[in-house]
Amino acid sequence: MKLAILLSLLLLACGRATVGRDPRISAYIENFETYSGVQFNGTVEIVKLNIDTHTIDGMCSLQRSRLTKELEVNSRTSRIQLDSDTYNKAIKAGDSLLLEQILMHEFLHCTKVKDHDPAMTQSKSNYLMPKSVMYPYSFGNTAAYKNNREYYFKELLK
Ligand SMILES: [Zn+2]
Repeated sequence: MKLAILLSLLLLACGRATVGRDPRISAYIENFETYSGVQFNGTVEIVKLNIDTHTIDGMCSLQRSRLTKELEVNSRTSRIQLDSDTYNKAIKAGDSLLLEQILMHEFLHCTKVKDHDPAMTQSKSNYLMPKSVMYPYSFGNTAAYKNNREYYFKELLK
């Protein structure tokens, strides 16, 4: 009985990939996990993604298995990266929703292989807003995201 308890504790401890998580952004990922019920098994890090002209805010990398050639979705090799300049600017501006939107977008790429969706839709207040958090450009700092956060969070459940 004691052994069984010990084993289940070890399994729990091994199941969470918290080692490769930058603590500065791990809370966002934990929110998505709690909301969606999907645990992210890969790495979450803040790195410099852009050398010259700044165009990339975040990235999800999925590797292919050498053996099966299948995409390793939400595995230990899956990697969510947030650009360090974007992170620093957002922190300076106190804009946690920009980071939230970028990370939600990358979380959905990396756990559900969601593609980009450039479509726009009409909001309840009759302005145009991205139909999906998978819009190809980050928009967490816009009224569209701020006023429709619950709508975008529901994509985590699809
Ligand atoms: Zn993307």
